[in-house]
Amino acid sequence: MKILRLILGDQLNIEHPWFQEKHQEDVLYTLMEVRPEQEYVKHHIQKIVGFFEAMRQFSVELSNRGFNTHYFKYDAANNQHSFEANLTQLIAENGIEKFEYQLPDEHRLDALLSDFSASLSIETNAVDTFHFLTSREYIQEFFTGKKTYLLESFYRHMRKKYNLMMEANGDPLGGKWNFDHQNRAKYKGEVPLPPPYKAQNNVSDVYKMVVAEKIPHFGEIEEEEFSWPVNRTQALEHLRYFLENGLCYFGTYEDAMTKEHETLFHSRLSFAMNIKLLSPLEIAESTIHYWQKHHEIPIQNVEGFIRQIIGWREYMRGVYWAQMPGYEEKNYFEHHENLPNWFWTGNTKMNCLKHAINGSLRNAWAHHMQRLMITGNFALLLGVSPEEVDTWYLGIYIDAIQWVEITNTRGMSQFADGGLVATKPYASTANYIHKMSDYCSGCHYKHTLKVEKNSCPFNSLYWDFFCRHEEKLSNNPRIGMAYRTWYKMDESQREKLLLRAAYIKEHVNDL
Ligand code: FAD
Ligand code: SF4
Repeated sequence: MKILRLILGDQLNIEHPWFQEKHQEDVLYTLMEVRPEQEYVKHHIQKIVGFFEAMRQFSVELSNRGFNTHYFKYDAANNQHSFEANLTQLIAENGIEKFEYQLPDEHRLDALLSDFSASLSIETNAVDTFHFLTSREYIQEFFTGKKTYLLESFYRHMRKKYNLMMEANGDPLGGKWNFDHQNRAKYKGEVPLPPPYKAQNNVSDVYKMVVAEKIPHFGEIEEEEFSWPVNRTQALEHLRYFLENGLCYFGTYEDAMTKEHETLFHSRLSFAMNIKLLSPLEIAESTIHYWQKHHEIPIQNVEGFIRQIIGWREYMRGVYWAQMPGYEEKNYFEHHENLPNWFWTGNTKMNCLKHAINGSLRNAWAHHMQRLMITGNFALLLGVSPEEVDTWYLGIYIDAIQWVEITNTRGMSQFADGGLVATKPYASTANYIHKMSDYCSGCHYKHTLKVEKNSCPFNSLYWDFFCRHEEKLSNNPRIGMAYRTWYKMDESQREKLLLRAAYIKEHVNDL
């Protein structure tokens, strides 16, 4: 062997140019399950098993296609549980003359591999992953000199650049770039909801190994019917399932939440995409292609989905590389509280949080509004330390890789960057949750009450949050209305709200 190539667990892209090259007799590919990757936070069991299973299947596929591979299973005797040590061992054993890797998406691994390469006396090379539509630096260059990074201008630019949903004259299809105002419907049972796609993998072997090796984990798993796609065939099947069953109402009910159904019309493609079984461009193009043959699907559903893939996803990645490593330290509001204990059990009387957390523990997934307006909103109002919030999100979701988790959590949901990603904090009372969901009916707390013993905790915590951060927020033109309402309230009502919030904070573990 002359060349050693490392493939990370989220680089399972069989379409990568590496695998199109001819004559690879002297190339050795390696994948490895190493302890530090399992322990930087405590992960959901489905996340650990999903990554290992997909990596193992990818390695088998490479072997079947005739590539030389060396796979380090977690419990293999020769696994030294460090990228550097395992790579050093392979280099020595195989007389390797050149080491290559694909650019990692996480800053931590980027630094590790760049330092490791610098320490080697052989030739080294880092290549692109050929997954994203933009380079790491693109966003930073796009927004040079700007105080906030406005998604909308970047998104429009991407539509034009890749000629997606565009008229020949450069106008957006349908005459508008954005159909957001048509995409805010509450789900009231008008149309049937599709069951979520389930790949039904038997992952018992990997699961048993995780347990036997005592890899720290939490959450639930059905190890004989693991629902996430773990190879490209399944990922393509999953994409087709979404196009046939979810796209038709994706946009319409994008923000809706219901206790009757966990996934609504969401695609759940994030895991397959984040480990690179699917590329964002192929998803966008397949979506538009499908729509061209099914024009009965209203445009706002297609545009809403395309915006998530080529807009939000690429944008968050760009923000990550523009802001790291400093982003990990951002804490604009200086929040230092802990998450309530029930974030790890779902054992709370607050119906919305109970559903969002139990669903996350069961599925290693929750949809965007649950992450933003239920769990994220509550942590923000409570004043939880962004570090603790990050740890929870990074651990619990199967699609959580730092580049897309931290930008959403610290940036969008916790406003910890002071307004780079979001123009105002995503904070709300029960009003919004009641408007977009059916959680409030049957809840122990009353969404209409503010200060009473059984009043919804969101209602007083909301005012407590704005009151605490008056100095930092009152000049924000997008939240002037909240402060005007606060100032207009009579003194005794303000006091009662703050007293109720203080009580809630003191008894947060009992809510
Ligand atoms: P759909 O609703 O079907 O959307 C389609 C795709 O669009 C998603 O698969 C995703 O790739 C992309 N997308 C949508 N919104 C975003 C966004 N805000 N940022 C980036 N991509 C987006 N997404 C992750 O992939 N990993 C995370 O760790 C993650 N953490 C989040 C934390 C918080 C607090 C919030 C508010 C959002 C987070 N998101 C994260 C974004 C979003 O919630 C998930 O991508 C989505 O819920 C995944 O489910 P889906 O595939 O059904 O998405
Ligand atoms: Fe959530 Fe409050 Fe509604 Fe209960 S009343 S579901 S706690 S918003």
